[in-house]
Amino acid sequence: MSVAHHHTHSRHDEVVAARVKAMEAILVEKGIIGTDAIDFMSSVYENEVGPQLGATIVARAWVDAAFRARLLADATAACAEMGVGGMQGEEMIVLENTDAVHNLVVCTLCSCYPWPVLGLPPNWYKYPAYRARAVRDPRGVMAEFGLRLPDSTEIRIWDSSAELRYWVLPRRPEGTDGLTEEQLALLVTRDSLIGVGEALRPGAADTEAEA
Ligand code: FE
Repeated sequence: MSVAHHHTHSRHDEVVAARVKAMEAILVEKGIIGTDAIDFMSSVYENEVGPQLGATIVARAWVDAAFRARLLADATAACAEMGVGGMQGEEMIVLENTDAVHNLVVCTLCSCYPWPVLGLPPNWYKYPAYRARAVRDPRGVMAEFGLRLPDSTEIRIWDSSAELRYWVLPRRPEGTDGLTEEQLALLVTRDSLIGVGEALRPGAADTEAEA
């Protein structure tokens, strides 16, 4: 089954949504959490915290070698330097893509994801199809996202957990020497931070939509 184009309103979604609604109702009824708090959290992670924060960090790493080294040594601390961190990102590890090695992130157990730098995970990240196939057939999965790498590139799969969340430092695209940090950040897609895509080439940012 296609991972990238999995139908978004599957039976599984409906079951999960019903369960979440029921849990929310109980928490509100018992006075453990207010509906306004739930609305606030949803709004923050849908509108304010998202892959644009991860993109900002990647752009900094591309232009600042010392920051890049700190990011690869201790991602959580380096992100904190830029004011990025928090829930579901307490322990993060950044994996550097090179011409020789390409990293791909999955949570085989559920949907662990570094919220502070990527926001909420896309639906496909949570589906069993992605979680199983990313491990078994990573090149097939990446091809569905339009990413085809040379056979010589080593693919490494990283299984995120509640304790440790991985994300990817994509390769800096060619032809970006003259770009500012802000312009570079626009080339960094959500998919490139998960490893199912690469950073966009200059000029492609306006025309290529994310999966
Ligand atoms: Fe998980």
